[in-house]
Amino acid sequence: MTTMDIATVDALRRGLGGSLLRPGDDGFAESTFLWNALIDRTPELVVQPRDTHDVAAAVDFARAHGMPVSVRGGGHNIAGTALAEGGVTIDMGRLRSVVVDCDRRLAIVEPGCQLGDVDRAAQEHGLATPLGFVSEVGVAGLTLGGGLGYLTRRFGWAVDNLVEVEIVTSDGLVRRASREDNADLFWAVRGAGANFGVVTSFTFRLHEVGTIFGGSVAVGEVMRRRRERDGVPPPVPMRAQAG
Ligand SMILES: Cc1cc2nc3c(=O)[nH]c(=O)nc-3n(C[C@H](O)[C@H](O)[C@H](O)COP(=O)(O)OP(=O)(O)OC[C@H]3O[C@@H](n4cnc5c(N)ncnc54)[C@H](O)[C@@H]3O)c2cc1C
Repeated sequence: MTTMDIATVDALRRGLGGSLLRPGDDGFAESTFLWNALIDRTPELVVQPRDTHDVAAAVDFARAHGMPVSVRGGGHNIAGTALAEGGVTIDMGRLRSVVVDCDRRLAIVEPGCQLGDVDRAAQEHGLATPLGFVSEVGVAGLTLGGGLGYLTRRFGWAVDNLVEVEIVTSDGLVRRASREDNADLFWAVRGAGANFGVVTSFTFRLHEVGTIFGGSVAVGEVMRRRRERDGVPPPVPMRAQAG
């Protein structure tokens, strides 16, 4: 430890259901791994929360000790804002559950989820919500910044489909925000959200879309195999037709 004594850190650790890591501990490198490998920033403590209570404990601890707080969702922010040098990083990586409520067409998403987690869970029911193009990006950072994806032209941005959040604000309180509840906080979260607290749950509206295929589809190969199966001769090249 550089600036903090062991007893202080142990007091935080005892109050957590999840884990507390320091530089050099097993798992610290994974917990602070960022997509942009040029970022060289080392937090003093990493909290891996098990639940919202742990997030609030981390926020309270950082405030009491004057330390900066950062949150790591999917770690894809290019500026590396998921890590605070010498601060407390809350790594959401263990919180990756998605609950799909088919009747109400809602997905309740934990803050460590990647886009692929939500797509997979919703697609089991022929449903989807607009997120982004790359499955490994974090739902949290993407949504709090707006969130543009394949379904945006049809259903809007990720934030347009956000129905409610649970959020720990800097005073350590757990609040819910939606159009009806803490409406001003909800407005702020949708677009500039990373600055207004730590979101511990996202509720998204789902849309009926059937099955979505994404990525590169090898159309030429599929057509060739189909022709072979059906005994259809290959197409004549355009130049040969003209000649
Ligand atoms: C390869 C790649 C593909 C991308 N594709 C798309 C795309 O298709 N559409 C699109 O809109 N964007 C896209 N982006 C941009 C991406 O949405 C942003 O970089 C976003 O910030 C990544 O979110 P994250 O959770 O992975 O990142 P992180 O770096 O973990 O977090 C980003 C920011 O959000 C904050 N944050 C994270 N979790 C929380 C939380 N629970 N509460 C409060 N603050 C939090 C972090 O502190 C940080 O400031 C892409 C980026 C990359 C690198």
